[in-house]
Amino acid sequence: MTDFDVVVLGGGPGGYASALYGASAGLKVAMVEQNKVGGTCLHRGCIPAKALLQAAEVYRAVGHAGDFGFRLPDGAAPTIDWPAVNARKSGIVNQLTKGLSGLLKRRKITVVNGHGRLTADGAVAVDGQALTGRAVIVCAGSVPRSLPGLEIDGDRVVSSDHTTNSDRPALPERVAVIGGGVIGAEFASVFTDLRVQTTLLEALPDGVLPIGPDRDVADVLARALARRGTDIHADARVGTVERTNSGVVVPFETKSGSEKIEVDQVLVAIGRRPATEDCGLEEAGVRVERGFVEVDTTTMLTSRPGVYAIGDCVNTPGLAHVAYAEAVVAIQHVLGERPVPVDYTRVPWVVYTHPEVGWAGLTEAEARAAGHDVEVHKHAFAGNGRAMIIGDTDGIVKVVAQRGGPILGVHLVGPWASELLAEGYLAVNWEALPSEVGAFIHPHPSLSEAIGETMITFSGRSLHG
Ligand code: NAD
Repeated sequence: MTDFDVVVLGGGPGGYASALYGASAGLKVAMVEQNKVGGTCLHRGCIPAKALLQAAEVYRAVGHAGDFGFRLPDGAAPTIDWPAVNARKSGIVNQLTKGLSGLLKRRKITVVNGHGRLTADGAVAVDGQALTGRAVIVCAGSVPRSLPGLEIDGDRVVSSDHTTNSDRPALPERVAVIGGGVIGAEFASVFTDLRVQTTLLEALPDGVLPIGPDRDVADVLARALARRGTDIHADARVGTVERTNSGVVVPFETKSGSEKIEVDQVLVAIGRRPATEDCGLEEAGVRVERGFVEVDTTTMLTSRPGVYAIGDCVNTPGLAHVAYAEAVVAIQHVLGERPVPVDYTRVPWVVYTHPEVGWAGLTEAEARAAGHDVEVHKHAFAGNGRAMIIGDTDGIVKVVAQRGGPILGVHLVGPWASELLAEGYLAVNWEALPSEVGAFIHPHPSLSEAIGETMITFSGRSLHG
């Protein structure tokens, strides 16, 4: 069991991408995982959360069946079979887990089940057994953060780990979501659409996605959630929650004063922290700063030669696809190649709320702060034929470019923004000119026409814009 080229610590997206990519390049790889392969993303994060968001989408679509000419008997609303919703979600997770296990096996990756720790001699110890390799890649991931007064009990005060793995017979009737970041916004969207009375409490002055996206785009989402019934409180300071016989009392203060609400469940979504406590990093001479493993992002090497770290345990955007990209950088460096480092200012971000939000590159505010002479054009989905056909016209495309120069940022909110972002991501990362993208043909009718139209507007002319 010793003598591998690479020993990977952790089997989430960063870990399995390192293992698969390394094995495809001919490396002999061991991957240590204490739970199921797939990590947070597959079992408690991206995949189950998006399955629940899709369920909410279907529920919403059925609710609008009348708009398409399909009448439900006496205007009846569909009833929610929450265990069935969760069973479908679990089916997808199980299928992907089996697929991933099969793939690891076919690539002849040795998967070691157990808790791995780095040792002072640079090996990885698992249950008394030592795995050695010329490189170790630490992919320990992250866990939800909590605060004193907001202790997570998995029942009435929960994290996304629990919401994605609910074994309740029904949804709670009243929920408070603490934190309006990506997780808070996504679950507020699910709960609101599934008729849960939802209160969103965010500490910063902007209540929904306060950090990250362009404000114009985030504001469209905030308005859409508020219209559907999410009760959003920005600048909210949440006190100690109190469990009562009938629920949980959540006290909070905003600029308009103190309030107390009672809910059935509190979802704490105030960020995640690296899960690096028990990995033997310090003993092995790997520098850790506030829990994050310190790395040189041009190689993903840590302070100890031969030891790399990637994914949520390093201080880069906590996204599965960023971990995939970092895995490629680390493995290429192990192979003695010259990897192209990840450009963290231009990674794709997608929030799978309704409406969806997606962006890559600089926001208008960031571009101006960086000193660019900025030109901005926006285009609404409201006039887009395909958006009308699918019955989902709320949203905009916003393109930020250097005047007379390349595209700096593409910001989307609206139908299928998650999929449309691919074009924006390429445009930003290829440093394309708006005129170059505008000269490309976008199929008609399609949502992507809204991107083409926005690019054409930079020429001072337009088709439909
Ligand atoms: P986040 O950092 O995106 O948002 C946390 C929010 O909570 C912030 O807006 C913050 O101001 C607020 N907050 C912090 N303390 C608070 C308090 N005491 N009271 C009220 N508000 C408070 O973190 P998250 O939403 O928990 O997500 C964690 C990680 O998971 C992120 O790194 C994210 O990248 C990743 N993730 C990504 C996606 C996606 O890309 N679609 C989805 C889910 C999670």
